[in-house]
Amino acid sequence: MQKPIEIRPLKPKRNMIRQYCEECEEEATKEAVFDLENFVAVRRFCGRCVETAKVDFAEA
Ligand SMILES: [Zn+2]
Repeated sequence: MQKPIEIRPLKPKRNMIRQYCEECEEEATKEAVFDLENFVAVRRFCGRCVETAKVDFAEA
């Protein structure tokens, strides 16, 4: 399991489609940055799920 190295607010943009949390049905308001050695991945979460956000990229 990877834990995020950085969590930052998701800036809403005009004309952008609504983005949903990866863990639940809520609208995403935060994005978590994961350092995966070879590259950096960003996943979007709502304010609640981001607190425990971790992603198992080995299974992805
Ligand atoms: Zn959520």
